[in-house]
Amino acid sequence: MKFELITKDPKTRARRGRLHTAHGVIETPIFMPVGTQATVKSMTPDQLRELGVEILLCNSYHLLLRPGHETVKRVGGLHRFMGWNRPILTDSGGFQVFSLTSLREISEDGVRFQSHLDGTSYYLNPEIAVDIQMALGSDIMMILDDCLAYPASHFEADRSMKRSLVWAERCHQHWKKNPETSQVLFGIVQGSIYPDLRRESAERLVAMDFPGYAIGGLAVGEPKPLMYEIIEQVDPYLPEEKPRYLMGVGTPADLVEAVARGVDMFDCVMPTRHARNGWLFTREGHIVIKNAKYKEDPGPIDETCGCIVCRTFSRAYLRHLFMANEILSSVLNTIHNLYFYLDTVRRIRQFIELHRFDEFLVETRRLGAH
Ligand SMILES: [Zn+2]
Repeated sequence: MKFELITKDPKTRARRGRLHTAHGVIETPIFMPVGTQATVKSMTPDQLRELGVEILLCNSYHLLLRPGHETVKRVGGLHRFMGWNRPILTDSGGFQVFSLTSLREISEDGVRFQSHLDGTSYYLNPEIAVDIQMALGSDIMMILDDCLAYPASHFEADRSMKRSLVWAERCHQHWKKNPETSQVLFGIVQGSIYPDLRRESAERLVAMDFPGYAIGGLAVGEPKPLMYEIIEQVDPYLPEEKPRYLMGVGTPADLVEAVARGVDMFDCVMPTRHARNGWLFTREGHIVIKNAKYKEDPGPIDETCGCIVCRTFSRAYLRHLFMANEILSSVLNTIHNLYFYLDTVRRIRQFIELHRFDEFLVETRRLGAH
């Protein structure tokens, strides 16, 4: 993997880059739709390609439980399994496991947990997390980290961050045992809301020399301004020549704010999950399609949107599909919301190239829409 820094915005910390992976090139800043169970719900791979999706995120936890990473490996790896020939990033499964508060047992070595599907007992530690992702064959793998709930005391956050560093080192060493692999491994900066812990985490991860760095443990309930502040604090400790990935964030406005603070990559379930619930993004804020006021509305979701849904269907029709619980409702709503996110990052990239990203940032804040 190679990361090229193409240009930087002169007035913000926004960066325009290009990430070369084994399955193709990704233009950054980039948004990665989430394909939890080796599918972006309601979308075919062709539809995703048509939307311009460059990279997907898949969840190791879900694939470990069903159908099993060894099964995926035996049938040719995740790309072939799901019919997606572009890059894939997998998480370590840690975030999901740590969310199962009543079903898990954490030790210094790893975490034992029970499947939410059938109660089967599993064990995850740094080496196993890398092995699972190696078997899946993702282009970008994530280290296993200790995912802390919010709020946490400084003491708890310190202990959790230090355990994450030990696990990061173990993941790194295990990954290095396969020097010929094209799969790369990203480190994850932790440390909750505490600047001293975030700094220590970032500096010690950078010393381990990962191909890329993520900022984890955000968008877990902390106020937005605090989230932006932490991203801003972490940024100077991350090497300029490596990609930075903000995990699990966020709204279109969050993307713009984080890009202004030096972030290159994003993933979030928001556009796809909200789509299935009839929550649709527009330049002027979101609309809830089931509202009675759209019953006879002949207009598109968003007048300014160029997606196939906005060019073809009315709000009245989309409301009807949603009320009738039709499968096409999820399909069309997902197409629009994903297009909206991908269009947002396309515009972000254009404005950075023009060295006018600050104008885009000001306009996003003026609309205050998301
Ligand atoms: Zn649209």
